[in-house]
Amino acid sequence: MRNLYYRYNPDTCQYEPIVPSGKKFLKRAVLYLSLALIAALPTTWWYIQNYSSIQEQYLMQEKKILLADWEKLQHEIDGAQASLSEFSKKDDEYYRTLLNLQPLAPSIREAGVGGIDRKLEEVKDYALVKESYERLEKLKHQVQVELQSYDELNLKADIQLSQRASRPAILPIHRRELVHLHTTFGNRFHPLLRIWRDHRGLDMTAAKGTPVFATGNGVVTRADYSETYGLVIYLDHGFGYETRYAHLLKYELKLGQEVKRGQLVGYVGTTGQSDAYHLHYEVLHNGVQVNPINFFQRDLSHQEYQKIVEHPKYKAK
Ligand SMILES: [Zn+2]
Repeated sequence: MRNLYYRYNPDTCQYEPIVPSGKKFLKRAVLYLSLALIAALPTTWWYIQNYSSIQEQYLMQEKKILLADWEKLQHEIDGAQASLSEFSKKDDEYYRTLLNLQPLAPSIREAGVGGIDRKLEEVKDYALVKESYERLEKLKHQVQVELQSYDELNLKADIQLSQRASRPAILPIHRRELVHLHTTFGNRFHPLLRIWRDHRGLDMTAAKGTPVFATGNGVVTRADYSETYGLVIYLDHGFGYETRYAHLLKYELKLGQEVKRGQLVGYVGTTGQSDAYHLHYEVLHNGVQVNPINFFQRDLSHQEYQKIVEHPKYKAK
């Protein structure tokens, strides 16, 4: 309700309401408004200085969350980097050494990471983004190097496994059925020809028909009869290795056939130049006969192997 002011009129002897003129009223209104504005200015300034807008507050909150996420990401990168370093160490110190490969040069793993994406240059907090981007790029490069290294290791391991499976490494006759292993490799007196002659294999006495086995994976390169060897099988094992099984009673393989280590080759006989049932076994490396004794380690106990190689008749080759 509007306040009314009264004034005493001596002419009418009455109190009469004072009605302000329009001009006066406007003046007062402007005065009050100006005073109000002057009083509000410092308060507004103080508010702007101390309080942000709702939108700003929301953005700041969002930035805080993003920075926390960023921190987490940095920890993840640190973890990935540590695991990768562990892999690289194992790769160099264990796998590559085991497979006779040179450790990778540090320069290969630390190679350059390439340029920064142009779009990133427009991003605020660029230094922070740049650092993470570079770390991730480096990590990506190192993972790539590691993958290539593992491919190389796999290939090398495959070759070595195949080489191991092919290399002659067992006795061609089962130990139970081997009556006697003649350790004469080299010059010996031939029982039939009655002369000293170079003997380039080992003779294994066994009963007629004793099974003879392939000593490594390979391919049959000869399966026929010869005057000296009698019925004979030649196996090519690859990697420069070859084996020969002579004086057989019968053979079970065909020319060109692929065989696995332990597969039946034939049976002990006395065909060709032979005076008793035995297997004449030869191992060749790069076309030259070598002493088969050195290929039996896996099939003989350590004591049995030592007994053979230390035998006075045994001539190391
Ligand atoms: Zn012989």
